[in-house]
Amino acid sequence: MSESIQTDVCIVGGGPAGAMLGLLLAQQSPLNVLVLERNQAFQREFRGESISQGSVAILDELGILDGLRQQGFLQIEGLSMFDEDQRIFSVNFHDFQAKHKFIIDLPQPILIGAILDKAQTLPNFSLRMGAACTGLVEEQEQITGVVYRDASGESITVSASVVVDASGRYTKIREMAGIQADIQTFSRDAVWFRVPRPSDWELHTRIKVNGQHHLIILPTYPDQLRVGINIAKGQYQKVKQEPIETFHDQVCKLEPLLDGIVQQHIRSWKDTVLLDIFTANVPQWSRDGLVLIGDSAHTVSPILGQGVNLAIQDAYVLATVIANYLQAHPKAIIPKSAFAAFEESRRELVNFVQAFQADQEKGLMAATEEGMIERRIKMSTLDQSPMKVQLAMKLAFGIFSAEPVQASHGG
Ligand SMILES: Cc1cc2nc3c(=O)[nH]c(=O)nc-3n(C[C@H](O)[C@H](O)[C@H](O)COP(=O)(O)OP(=O)(O)OC[C@H]3O[C@@H](n4cnc5c(N)ncnc54)[C@H](O)[C@@H]3O)c2cc1C
Repeated sequence: MSESIQTDVCIVGGGPAGAMLGLLLAQQSPLNVLVLERNQAFQREFRGESISQGSVAILDELGILDGLRQQGFLQIEGLSMFDEDQRIFSVNFHDFQAKHKFIIDLPQPILIGAILDKAQTLPNFSLRMGAACTGLVEEQEQITGVVYRDASGESITVSASVVVDASGRYTKIREMAGIQADIQTFSRDAVWFRVPRPSDWELHTRIKVNGQHHLIILPTYPDQLRVGINIAKGQYQKVKQEPIETFHDQVCKLEPLLDGIVQQHIRSWKDTVLLDIFTANVPQWSRDGLVLIGDSAHTVSPILGQGVNLAIQDAYVLATVIANYLQAHPKAIIPKSAFAAFEESRRELVNFVQAFQADQEKGLMAATEEGMIERRIKMSTLDQSPMKVQLAMKLAFGIFSAEPVQASHGG
């Protein structure tokens, strides 16, 4: 007979959204929380490594930041954008009036490991690795649990008051629940690679634009740069037929400071990886017994590295909603209506982020001389605007510069 498990909250996916929600819930309530993660380990090659200031504040509040600091991370002190080598926009994070001024950069497995290590000290938290959710259990239009396959291939049924889909940008749970997403592709994808960081490199996110081409350069822990260059949508296989030297030339034309470094360290296309850029707008984030968070609810563009930030802050807001509901209605299936305020408040921020990113995307991909002039004027005007720091802080801090839905997390 196959195993079955009873819990209060079943979270599918142990990424930043799922791990953070699991910790918060287990810490602030007596609820039993189960996180299912299909991978056996958290080694991910290329994932969000820049953690925005608002999420850094949450890590501090939860007592995780000091441990991460001891392990080591980079502090990113600003962002600069150059058009044909002329600096047209910059933000210096030292100007933020806040305790946590800087983005931190660290490998995602370390971040998730720190969150889960803390969660696993709590008796009401459990994590199953190698547990791939394969189906939802539905009774009278309510989601009442999931079925997952463990590492030995056995199917296990979990019953819960709520299933949280935190399974990321390629979620299958959303589809299983009959929720359709509006997937929008952009006209570009990005090819990413890593190279060693010169010791005198400014600790700023650096965007270099020239005509229709751009490079995003992210200082990365411990001593690297993560670099992304745009290519036309869906053309990675075709681009890879060119000699790697053509790629070196394109990169160095955009950032001459990488000349010599890129040739030495990017020996073949195998040293690069594709980021398929798309956004998902999901009209409905919940059903009775189910709620979506993180990339599953809203995949955003990589511009300004907002994905992890949104995921962590979704978890922060949702934890209180779930804990309060189940405290008032123990063991009940959480109805969709209980998630309305959560969804409304988070959507407002996600819409703001997506609108800002779409505008930036349009500028970066300008294909005409007029469009490129408009891009330069727009960014230079924004650079001079008295609202610049305020706008940057809204993107950096998310919920802490807007109204949180509910009260606080004691920690
Ligand atoms: C190349 C790249 C670079 C990025 N850089 C940045 C950045 O610098 N800053 C930033 O903020 N964001 C960045 N992002 C985006 C960021 O990684 C995501 O937005 C963020 O990880 C979303 O968190 P999540 O928890 O919602 O989903 P994910 O991190 O995708 O986690 C989902 C988890 O669910 C698991 N899972 C999936 N299906 C199942 C299943 N059926 N059963 C059980 N488990 C399942 C997956 O294995 C995974 O561990 C980047 C993304 C990519 C691809």
